[in-house]
Amino acid sequence: MKNHTQVIRLLVRLLWGLLLLPLAASAASAQSGSETLTVGVPIDRCPIFYQEPDSGEVIGIGVDLMRAAAEEAGYTVRFRAVREHTLKDALDNPEYDVLMPFGSAIRSTAGQSSVVTENLFQTPFTFVTKGNREMPALGQLRVGMLRSLGGAIETLHSLFPDMEIREYDSMAESVKALRKNEVDALLHNSFVWSYVLQKPAYRDLTVQPSAMFLMDFRAGAPDTPEGRALVERLNRGIAAVSETRRQAVILDYTSRRLYRYDFSDYLYEYGLILLLGALLLAAVIVIAVQRLRAVRREQEETLRKMMDYDPLTGLLNMNGFRKRVEELLRTYPDEPYYLSYNNIRGFKFINDSLGREDGDKLLRFWAETSERYLSDKEAIARITADHFVVLRRIEGEEKMLRDEQDVFAPMENYFIEQGKENRVLICSGIYILVPRDFRKIDVDHMVDLARVAEKRARASLNRNYEFYNPEQWEYGKRVLDIANGLPRAIEDGELQVWYQPQMDYDTGKITGAEALCRWKHGKLDWLSPGEFIPILEDAGLIYELDSYVWEQVCRDLQRWNAQGCYRCVSVNLSRDDIREGRDIPACFEKLVRRHGLRPEQLRIEITETAYAESPQLLIATTEKLRALGFQVEMDDFGSGYSSLHMLKEVPVDRVKLDLNFLTASGDQEKCRTIISSVISMVQNLGLRLISEGVETAEQARFLQSRGSSEMQGFYFYKPMPVQEFEEILAKNESA
Ligand code: C2E
Ligand code: MG
Ligand code: MG
Repeated sequence: MKNHTQVIRLLVRLLWGLLLLPLAASAASAQSGSETLTVGVPIDRCPIFYQEPDSGEVIGIGVDLMRAAAEEAGYTVRFRAVREHTLKDALDNPEYDVLMPFGSAIRSTAGQSSVVTENLFQTPFTFVTKGNREMPALGQLRVGMLRSLGGAIETLHSLFPDMEIREYDSMAESVKALRKNEVDALLHNSFVWSYVLQKPAYRDLTVQPSAMFLMDFRAGAPDTPEGRALVERLNRGIAAVSETRRQAVILDYTSRRLYRYDFSDYLYEYGLILLLGALLLAAVIVIAVQRLRAVRREQEETLRKMMDYDPLTGLLNMNGFRKRVEELLRTYPDEPYYLSYNNIRGFKFINDSLGREDGDKLLRFWAETSERYLSDKEAIARITADHFVVLRRIEGEEKMLRDEQDVFAPMENYFIEQGKENRVLICSGIYILVPRDFRKIDVDHMVDLARVAEKRARASLNRNYEFYNPEQWEYGKRVLDIANGLPRAIEDGELQVWYQPQMDYDTGKITGAEALCRWKHGKLDWLSPGEFIPILEDAGLIYELDSYVWEQVCRDLQRWNAQGCYRCVSVNLSRDDIREGRDIPACFEKLVRRHGLRPEQLRIEITETAYAESPQLLIATTEKLRALGFQVEMDDFGSGYSSLHMLKEVPVDRVKLDLNFLTASGDQEKCRTIISSVISMVQNLGLRLISEGVETAEQARFLQSRGSSEMQGFYFYKPMPVQEFEEILAKNESA
């Protein structure tokens, strides 16, 4: 009810404008004839004023009505979009003759008053709220309006002084404010709403038909003599536009489907479908890309196969073999390997007599049979025609015999089994890889060397294989026989501990002995420690041998103790015995405890190689050994590069001067000077000294003359088996 009263009040106010009409009409009566009027209009309120999207022409209800009235008044009109933010600003721009739409006359920003025409048509103004919410009373309402509706805003202000009106630059901005509850409702021309509310994103907005204004829709011009004349003339035109024509214009625009979806509308309306579509598209793209990649991979794989494999046998070709061998040698640098070059004797004859097809079958059979016996660490390839190369691990002669049985014999009988007479003989050239081949890998070179041997085998009538480097083969075999033979050697008593007596030259008494290992190998006969110790060290087996030696020594010491002969023996400690996680001092402690020995009966010889490998560990081990009561000796002093350095760092009880090394070559006079100096240096350090490798009486006397009488060497005794040592001891002790 209250709202209705307000509508009426507004109408009264607008009718006031009509009463002023005769005044303005008289001022404009002077103007006549056809002139062009520039009419400034906003273009953001379809269907009243907007731009035709295709032509850019300004059209709308307001435009058509104004054009009709102006033409009736004898004007030609040109409509221009106003660039100013408000009607008040535009009023100060002399480029426009007339401006639209006015509710009533207003004052420009610069203070210029205006005159307005008669009402062109009554436009309904409607409130729009968020959802269907209850509208507060108009007086307390917070209303949002477009800033460009300056005239209407002023009218409202005067009608409802308490109404809070907030102005916004755009419809989107005003809707945002409504949604944020900055205002209770938005007020705008109903025709504009009918257009704007078609936007899908505005579906939550509700028109409030109960609160509606009718506002005048006029044109205005600055209040100048020209302006007034113009308005007067236009008024005549307005009066000449019939109501029917007016309704026809309104109907024309309101029945058009003007609203056009923009991108954001489509996004809002079809967002989910678009998203699903995009996901589908993305999935299709991903699948397509993956498929393409898979195809490319397959092609690459095929290409790689063509490049690295032999199509006839499926084995590697030379290219693939080269890569595989490089990879294997890099991965397994400690494996013993040989490379063989194999070739069928008279393959051409087989091909000619039995046909190519049978020849191919034979090659495939060879490939399959060989491959069956290869491990992952080995490789085989057909490099051309009937030439096969194989990289094989050396595992002793037995393996070669097995290959003979598994591969070469079936090959030999291949055609015979089929009832044909052809015997297939294979010639092989074998190259044993040497350490250099692992450091600087040159597969082609190795294949060439194996091929040289293969040619030799082919030339010989009674041998099917030849070694390129037989000495390497012999050595490799020997290494394997030694490393593989250790457990048996320990079990079968092939290892013996020999003793080399140590003398006090002054008294001629035996003061101790060094335990030295001897091996009477089942197959290789007597082996010297100089050969088997480094091999066992390389194979990681030295600790097993040393533990065995120490055990034997302790048994002998225990036996002698029991016989009432208290003796001391030096044992050798290999560089590989000392290792993180292996408590050597604890091992020795257990050993002496188990055999009831005194720790000082064992003298433990350490070497410079152990120092070079891990100085800290060696120092710690030495300290612990000495703390437990063992004697520690520095073996081979003078033979290495850093004997002095080691002497400074490692706390030992006795130094073993290696005479062998010092006197082997060079100026003997200098040797004597060095030896004299070493003796006095060691004595000055408060350490004991024993000279080993003493071979002549002259050497012994010289050492004695320098105050060093402890000696070990062939001049006195060579290392000897334990029984012999016991006999000598008995004699020496009784003497
Ligand atoms: P080493 O510890 O320096 O032992 C001394 C070596 O010199 C022994 O050689 C000995 O026979 C030799 N020798 C002694 N007097 C003379 C001499 O007057 N002239 C010459 N030319 N040589 C003499 P052997 O027994 O052949 O041992 C060689 C090396 O093998 C030893 O050198 C030692 O490092 C190692 N070794 C021997 N037995 C064992 C063992 O049970 N365990 C460990 N880890 N190493 C051992
Ligand atoms: Mg020694
Ligand atoms: Mg030595």
